[in-house]
Amino acid sequence: MRKLVIASGNQGKLRELSALLQPLDYDVHTQAEFNVPDVPETGTTFVENAIIKARHAAELTGLPAIADDSGIEVDALDGAPGVYSARFSAPDATDEKNNALLVEKLRDVPEDQRTARYRAVIVYMKHAKDPSPIICEGSWEGRIVLEPHGEGGFGYDPYFFVPTHGCTSAELSAEVKNSLSHRGQALRELVSKLTK
Ligand code: IMP
Repeated sequence: MRKLVIASGNQGKLRELSALLQPLDYDVHTQAEFNVPDVPETGTTFVENAIIKARHAAELTGLPAIADDSGIEVDALDGAPGVYSARFSAPDATDEKNNALLVEKLRDVPEDQRTARYRAVIVYMKHAKDPSPIICEGSWEGRIVLEPHGEGGFGYDPYFFVPTHGCTSAELSAEVKNSLSHRGQALRELVSKLTK
C-alpha cells in the first residue's frame, strides 16, 4: 500500500478527507503523526495556500502529500472572509468568534442578499519538488443565517443554510455533507484522477 500524508491539523477536515479517501488503496497518515508543524499560509489564493501546505508536508515526510485550502465567500462582504476564513476574527480567532463576527457584519443585510459559497482546492503533490501538482476545486452555494442551527460539521456550518436541503450544513449527516460539499466535490475529482 502506498503511503500518503494529509497536510492538515483541522480535525473536522481530517475526518471528512479520511472518509472520502477510504476507497483508495492508500495508507493515509496525518502530518501530526510525523510531527509536521503548521506552515504559515502566506498565499492570497486557495491554490497557493494548498500548494504551500502540501509542499511543506511532502518535504518534511518524504511522502506524497494532499492539502486542502478552503473558505467561505460572502457576496455582501465582497467575497470576504475567503482565504482568511480561519483567521477572520484574528488575532485570537476561533470558530465561535469567526461566526459572531460574520453575524455582526450581516445583521442589517436582507436574507436574500446573504448569498455565500464554500470553496475548496485540493492539491496532490508526488513530492516536494513536484512541478505539476494535481489541482482540484469545488464550490457549494448557500446563504448565511443569523441564528445557529445544528451540531454537526465545523467552522461556519451552523450558519450556512443549504437551500436544496432546507437546513444548515451543520444539520446534515457527515455522509450527506460529503456528497454535496465543496471539499467532497474536489476530493472526488482527485480520487478519479488518482485512480486513472
Ligand atoms: P483553512 O484551514 O485555511 O483551509 O481554513 C478553512 C476555514 O474555512 C475553516 O477554518 C473554516 O472556518 C472554513 N471552512 C472551510 N470549509 C468549511 C466547511 O466545510 N464547514 C465550515 N467551515 C468551513
